Amino acid sequence: MLHRWRTVSKLYLQQGGWQVRHRWERTPIGVRFAFTLTLLLIGLLTLWLLMNLAYLNDALTHQARLNQMRLVKTTEIALERELMNLLRHTEDYSVWNDAREAVLKRDRQWLRINAVDWLTQHFYYDIVAIILPQGKVLISNCSENEWLLNLSLVQDAHRGKGDAGLVRRDGAVYMMSAAPIYDEEWQQPPVGVLVLAKSLKHVQLSQLSEQIGNRVVLTLSTQFQTHGSHPSEGDSGGVILRDPTGHPIALLTLEYPHATKNLMQEWLSKAKRTLAVASVVIAILASLLMVGFLRAYIARFLTAIHRVASGDWGARIPYAARDEFGFLAQTFNRMAIQLQQAFEEQERQREEIQAQNEELQALYQQLRAAHQELAQLNAELVEANRALAQAALTDGLTGLKNHRAFQESLHSLVQMAERHRQPLSLIMLDIDHFKQFNDRFGHPAGDELLKQVAEVLRQSARAYDVVARYGGEEFALLLPNTTLEQAVQVAERIRTQISQIQNPHAPVSASLGVASYRMGTPPATLLYEADAALYRAKHNGRNQVCVYQPEAA
Ligand code: GH3
Ligand code: MG
Ligand code: MG
Repeated sequence: MLHRWRTVSKLYLQQGGWQVRHRWERTPIGVRFAFTLTLLLIGLLTLWLLMNLAYLNDALTHQARLNQMRLVKTTEIALERELMNLLRHTEDYSVWNDAREAVLKRDRQWLRINAVDWLTQHFYYDIVAIILPQGKVLISNCSENEWLLNLSLVQDAHRGKGDAGLVRRDGAVYMMSAAPIYDEEWQQPPVGVLVLAKSLKHVQLSQLSEQIGNRVVLTLSTQFQTHGSHPSEGDSGGVILRDPTGHPIALLTLEYPHATKNLMQEWLSKAKRTLAVASVVIAILASLLMVGFLRAYIARFLTAIHRVASGDWGARIPYAARDEFGFLAQTFNRMAIQLQQAFEEQERQREEIQAQNEELQALYQQLRAAHQELAQLNAELVEANRALAQAALTDGLTGLKNHRAFQESLHSLVQMAERHRQPLSLIMLDIDHFKQFNDRFGHPAGDELLKQVAEVLRQSARAYDVVARYGGEEFALLLPNTTLEQAVQVAERIRTQISQIQNPHAPVSASLGVASYRMGTPPATLLYEADAALYRAKHNGRNQVCVYQPEAA
């Protein structure tokens, strides 16, 4: 049951604590400052009041002690004076001659009427007794009086010395005086002792109080504690009453008014000083507290800003109150959220771009490989084309240009000659009796001879001359920028060189026809004319050079 109660109360306290905290967090900072400051002030003022109350208490206690000591002393003096009065009164009556005579005669009747009753009735003595030197009570106003005989006061009086003091008997305290009974001239020895006593009761205590001069209330107590053999006056708060032997017999308690004006003034000035110091301390503490508050909040803001500046976009400022700081915190948090979103978007785009880049890179690699493959194929194709073109324009046996290539060259060189107005000559060459050679030494030997003739032509030609196998064992040599005469010389030299070919089977000769291009004529004309010249060379007996002659054609 107790455990359950504890759990419930703990929960309630936690909930309550959370609510208080929640509210506190939502309270504007100014109100929080004021609240904290008020709390601080209340705390300090309470402390200050407690401190001053303690001062006051101390001061009052001290003052009360002093007052009490003074009153105790006064009371003691007043009591002493009372006792002295009593002694004096006793001694006045102890030297009454008539009374002395009556004692000597043992005239109890006279003594009762004139001394005992008179003293009792007029002065309200509780005890009036005359004691004989033999230790016997002659006369007394009370029946129980044997105890008087043993009192030190009475003994001393028998020895001639009167004295007064306090005596306790059956719970009552008496102011008692005993004096020896003399004659008026004090010539004869004492005949007895006169004992007078008054019980310390309310009336006597009031009289004493009046004598002290204060409104002190005196209370007598025979039941009191002593510390060791001596009772402490300070602790008991009164006057210890003692019998003539010094033995404590009662306590006279004093009740008195206290607190003096001076003490209050002293206390007030002390309070003022304390208040001044406390005000300064409060001001300093409040300033420190406010500065501490501000620093704490600014530190909170700075930490968040620093975190965001370092790239920690998740940083937020926790601040629930709707004040200026709260507005600042909200704005900052919104900005941080936007920054975070922008950064995340940017990051997402970057990743996307990176992925695209990687994809592009892969594609680029593939493309590059394909391109290299294509370039390789292209090169191979170019090479194949070149070889094909070469093959298309070259004669397979001799390596010279073939008929088609010759035709193309003829056309382009004719155009060039036309454009530059330069001479262009053509030499047509045909091996003599080649059919016979073939027939006699076989085709391979014929092929070999064809290669030898082709080599002679190649050696004779300049870089820009065109040498071609026109067909069969017929060759053509196009000579740009060459006149007919020059061409004849070239033809003659070729013819000579052919005739000098070292063939293993038979000597070789060739017939050559030479013609020059005439401006404005078609290429076929040049071909025709050279061919006609060649025909003439054949016709004229072979192994010779003939020039085209128009009249001959
Ligand atoms: P001519 O002196 O009149 O020119 O007499 P020819 O025998 O040379 O006359 P023709 O033009 O009739 O003969 C040409 C021969 O050349 C015919 C052919 O068998 C031979 N011939 C043509 N092309 C080739 C070839 O590529 N190789 C070989 N070995 N012989 C060929
Ligand atoms: Mg021929
Ligand atoms: Mg021939």
